[in-house]
Amino acid sequence: MSDIKYKRVILKVSGEALAGKDGFGINPEVIKDLAEEIKTVHSMGVQIAIVCGGGNIWRGETGAKMGMDRAQADYMGMLATVMNGLALQDGLEHAGVPTRVQTSIEMRQVAEPYIRRRAVRHLEKGRVVIFSGGTGNPYFSTDTTAALRAAEIEADVILMAKNNVDGVYSADPKVDPDAVKFEELTQLDIINKDLRVMDRTASSLSMDTEIPLIVFNMNEPGNIKKVVLGENIGTTIRG
Ligand code: UDP
Repeated sequence: MSDIKYKRVILKVSGEALAGKDGFGINPEVIKDLAEEIKTVHSMGVQIAIVCGGGNIWRGETGAKMGMDRAQADYMGMLATVMNGLALQDGLEHAGVPTRVQTSIEMRQVAEPYIRRRAVRHLEKGRVVIFSGGTGNPYFSTDTTAALRAAEIEADVILMAKNNVDGVYSADPKVDPDAVKFEELTQLDIINKDLRVMDRTASSLSMDTEIPLIVFNMNEPGNIKKVVLGENIGTTIRG
């Protein structure tokens, strides 16, 4: 354990990341690869909680643009995150990693309700905990959920796994050849420079909790391990 920098982590996996190259839905290869990566880190003794997004299935904003009631559309988004959570649990269990899913909206036949103390107990017992259902409230995001749960379970860091992007850039590196990658930023930089790493609510909560966030590329094998060992990959954002 001595070489491990971060012993209790929140891994934020966006819906987009789970869709992989398909751009929509759940890609089984991505789930399988991610489960293996998590397994490696889990076997090192790192306590891992995952917050999954839902944008690969549904986003509240999309529904609102179509004329739906925003809160209604957001509840659909929260349900989407539960589907992703179950898919991730399935992948992890196939890889032999004990896992519990907790939902912030009760659906006891499907998963446990979110209970902070129970989540911490699972982590202490070596189970990966998947937090799904977002915060349970419309108008929020799963980035805010990651910031919130990280504070609640006293995580050392939030690892923001990105799909084929290795950090935060000054501009979109796929479009602008002059885009530069930042090694370190603060949450205030994210807000002031409008860098869109996470939404403002999530950034401002992370500013208050001072839990660092590392943005890194999850498609590079071994990266989650590198991050928990403290290797300088990706962009670190301080509170
Ligand atoms: N959502 C919500 N409250 C939350 C978390 C999520 O209403 O606390 C809804 C919201 O509609 C959002 C959708 O769930 O669009 C999917 O979450 P998010 O967009 O954060 O997923 P990601 O971008 O990470 O895939």
